[in-house]
Amino acid sequence: MVFAFTEYLMLLITGNSYSEKRLGYAADYCPICRALSPVLVTRIANTSHLYFVPIGTGKTLAFTGKCHHCQTIFPVEAMRYDEIMKHPAEVNALIHCTLPDARSIYSDELKLADRIVKQPASLSQSERDQLLEEPFLIYRERIESVFGGGSKLDKSCGMIAIGTTLLIVLLTYACFFFEKDSVIQQRCIILIPFVLTLGCFTCLIQYARIPGKFVKQRAIPAMVRSLKPLNPSKGELNSILGKLRRSGDKIGKKVKIDHLWNALQ
Ligand SMILES: [Zn+2]
Repeated sequence: MVFAFTEYLMLLITGNSYSEKRLGYAADYCPICRALSPVLVTRIANTSHLYFVPIGTGKTLAFTGKCHHCQTIFPVEAMRYDEIMKHPAEVNALIHCTLPDARSIYSDELKLADRIVKQPASLSQSERDQLLEEPFLIYRERIESVFGGGSKLDKSCGMIAIGTTLLIVLLTYACFFFEKDSVIQQRCIILIPFVLTLGCFTCLIQYARIPGKFVKQRAIPAMVRSLKPLNPSKGELNSILGKLRRSGDKIGKKVKIDHLWNALQ
């Protein structure tokens, strides 16, 4: 017991945590847009901390890129960029500065993307099946993570927390400002726990809604962007979702066929 407590205390004082650092902008191939796009490059590292203050830059675990057009986050090989730009720019300017060989590196992907648009009939059944499945597989892990408790607080939670704190500070100030035992002071004292409870409750509700909002506002629009050029039937989409459900992937349950189908129309 004493050992466990000491270990816990040590973890609070020092330990490792994941950190994300935005490095800037580059051009890379987005598998959802099926095109070269401007991406926001982020370094994910395992960093040691002392009293929650990071020590050093940590060990790099991966680099990710967030597509400017569809907001999809995917792994990138940041080490091959000539440089990473501090500010966003138009894709051709980013290709020139960050990945001049982008068109030859991704020539196969770009040719396939061109065929999808210009000669869809030339796609074999296995190519089509793979392409239809692709956006689901890209979003599978993110959906697994957001529904598995990996959501970060979003803007609405932050706004509620800030609003609640400001209101409590204001009410506390009013308690000292108004005459002792006056009606206003007594009302302020009663209001403080009420505001705190309401703020926490609203924040919790908003937090619980984050995974659903992610599916509706991020995953489905991105999947639609990828699926639309393929003009899938409802049966094809149903079959992919069914397969994912049977393999136990959350995306199979969380993405509703009707929502996806309606967004595609
Ligand atoms: Zn994209």
